[in-house]
Amino acid sequence: MRPTTRCLQLNVERLMSRRQKSTSFIGLGRMGYEMAFNLFSKQHALASDSQFVICDAVPASTTRFRDAFMAQFPGAQLSIASSPEEAALVSQTIITMLPASPHVLSVYNAGILPGLQTLSRSLRTTTFCIDSTTLDVSVAKDVASAVTATGAQMVDAPVSGGVTGAKAGTLSFLVGGETGAFASVQPVLSMMGSRAIHCGPTGAGLAAKICNNMLLGVQQIATAEAMLLGQKLGLDPAVLTSVIGSSTGSCWSVNVNNPVPGALVDKAPPCERDYEGGFATALMLKDMGLAATVAEQAASPSPLGEAAGQIYAKIAAERPDLTGKDFSSVYAYLKDKAETGQVMHGEAWFVRAKDA
Ligand code: NAD
Repeated sequence: MRPTTRCLQLNVERLMSRRQKSTSFIGLGRMGYEMAFNLFSKQHALASDSQFVICDAVPASTTRFRDAFMAQFPGAQLSIASSPEEAALVSQTIITMLPASPHVLSVYNAGILPGLQTLSRSLRTTTFCIDSTTLDVSVAKDVASAVTATGAQMVDAPVSGGVTGAKAGTLSFLVGGETGAFASVQPVLSMMGSRAIHCGPTGAGLAAKICNNMLLGVQQIATAEAMLLGQKLGLDPAVLTSVIGSSTGSCWSVNVNNPVPGALVDKAPPCERDYEGGFATALMLKDMGLAATVAEQAASPSPLGEAAGQIYAKIAAERPDLTGKDFSSVYAYLKDKAETGQVMHGEAWFVRAKDA
């Protein structure tokens, strides 16, 4: 039987009594939707009396999730929280998957923290907050310190693996926090990913994620350049992909996220769907900004990271149509430059990027 909206409304009193077995998931976007679906499906299979609570700023996101989940698991206990505060009140495990630092600050400062503060000390100390957003390290540390001041525990657990990994449940979680907190959240993470790596204390998971994405941002642009140049030199993109894929230039951007349609014979990267899905250029631009911030704070030179950040900024300024598309669309941007005779060399790219 398909449940009515009424029976899915959050009954705080009823859920409070089952708080220990409840999990709240806040942020059902491209990643969060898939992660929550996996987690709730597996938790439901393990213990059918588990309580699931979802929350998103966009009501259509929660109703879409509810309809799909309840169609597959008609007996599940799924509720929609009207605010992050409500979501924090009723669940011992609270997971957030939000776009960036401002959203995390707002959800925690105006929702989760006030919610936790109204609970008894014993309920607070058994609460775990897991934030999987990719955000600024210092913001994450401030939020974690406010959460731990209430007695609850928190880890930063950004992910690697993209929407495909989120859907398949094969994400890698890069975790920062106390060793005990890491051990406690591992069973939950294992239902959404195939690997959880304890990177160090609070903020260390994010530091690892930001370093990885800085490298990836550079790698994807370099792949686009090589694939474009190869075709200009008369090479077939599938042949070039096969050569690089088995040579020293081999990397994820060539072998999995190749930006040239038809280059990966038996795979379907975002370029085959006009760069739809995947990891948005806007999110990569955000991550290059996070990398630039920490590199400056740590006085660590990153000339290629900075240059790549400027290229993504230039794309956002000149081609807003590509900001929501996969970041491999940098290839489409460069190809367009070649076709319209706007080929620049050397510093001209970056001087103009700064002016853009
Ligand atoms: P998204 O924009 O698709 O989803 C974010 C969700 O958060 C949206 O549903 C939005 O409505 C919700 N939200 C925003 N503010 C809110 C608030 N105040 N209260 C409740 N809900 C709120 O983003 P995404 O692609 O799912 O990415 C999420 C995070 O994961 C980002 O930090 C991103 O950098 C990181 N990430 C994304 C990918 C990817 O491939 N998309 C891969 C790895 C990491």
